[in-house]
Amino acid sequence: MSAALEQVLVELGERSYPIHIGPGLLDRAGELIKPLMQGGRALVVTDANVAPLYLERVQKSLAEAGVVTMHTVVPAGEQTKDFKHLEALLDAMLEARAERGVMVVALGGGVIGDLTGFAASILLRGVDFVQIPTTLLSQVDSSVGGKTGINTRQGKNLVGTFYQPRLVLADTAVLDTLPRRQVLAGYAEVAKYGVIDDEPFFAWLEANGSKVIDGDLEARRHAVAVSCRAKARIVAADEREGGVRALLNLGHTFGHALEAETGFSEEMLHGEAVALGMVMALRLSARLGLAPAADAERLERHFEALGLPTALPRPRLWAVDRLIRHMAGDKKVKDGKVTFVMARGIGKSFLTREVPEAELASMLSEMAA
Ligand code: NAD
Ligand code: MG
Repeated sequence: MSAALEQVLVELGERSYPIHIGPGLLDRAGELIKPLMQGGRALVVTDANVAPLYLERVQKSLAEAGVVTMHTVVPAGEQTKDFKHLEALLDAMLEARAERGVMVVALGGGVIGDLTGFAASILLRGVDFVQIPTTLLSQVDSSVGGKTGINTRQGKNLVGTFYQPRLVLADTAVLDTLPRRQVLAGYAEVAKYGVIDDEPFFAWLEANGSKVIDGDLEARRHAVAVSCRAKARIVAADEREGGVRALLNLGHTFGHALEAETGFSEEMLHGEAVALGMVMALRLSARLGLAPAADAERLERHFEALGLPTALPRPRLWAVDRLIRHMAGDKKVKDGKVTFVMARGIGKSFLTREVPEAELASMLSEMAA
């Protein structure tokens, strides 16, 4: 028996598309993708970890729907999001004689989605693509909203496009093979939607978060659906990040500084940095008298209960001035001022460029002590 599927529509006029959410969707890829295709060929792009787990099932489903499939497997990991691998991927696509009607299928985590989406957006001036996100982070975040791109030596995600997929298939059952640390990292982005503007969802997570992490199908489907709906709503209001979309950066300005200090390495995963960044955002908000201290504590208690970090990891020594410098170097800076996402409490986030540096520094010193 399969648990019910859910659908979320990302409403962007003629670029609107549905996200299907639930277990078993990999086996329905053909039936769901075929009707969108202009030609008969699909090109599946995946990474070396995901290929042995799920490539065959997706290819079989596409073949059963009468789609001729080719595939490209790229190395797993963030290093793959670069010019070299983009070139190799475009090369493979052209060698496979991809034509305008080809359907590009991104099967994997955010790395695959970002790289493949970017390639699809510039191949032959743009071919259709669908996302089959296989990490919790990609199901609730990177596969929604149409940002694609690669990293350069100047920084992360500095080259890319806004390019929406035709369809997203978030098969929640594939998360069973995802390492727990990666599940937790993705969960930080789930909790983020609660902290931004949905206190009831945060309360639901307090009661059900461990089920989401441990693999309960219903809990996972609900958490992914609520998250996608939240991001879809924000993206529909502000596709190209002129305003409210910046709320999605809650915890990210702080998190970015932590990732920069740890060299964007395995030492701290993005989601772990975001969890810590949200703790910082709430603590600073409380310190500034904007939010009750109880809300900052509530967030920390929830993360602690699940095993997400709430304190800066040791034995590394954290230099406050360097963290602040990283924040100022973040690409969300406008006219020399950093835009912070602060909160009046859980579910009440807002944007501000008025954060006194002295208070910021004391909050960081307290965390680094
Ligand atoms: P990832 O794609 O590197 O996946 C994490 C690891 O899990 C990889 O080793 C991968 O091979 C493995 N994996 C994937 N699915 C698996 C499965 N089902 N079972 C077992 N292993 C599996 O990382 P991620 O966390 O999914 O995504 C991070 C990337 O997403 C970053 O590059 C980030 O910049 C990008 N991102 C983009 C957006 C956007 O809006 N486009 C938003 C957030 C993040
Ligand atoms: Mg993020």
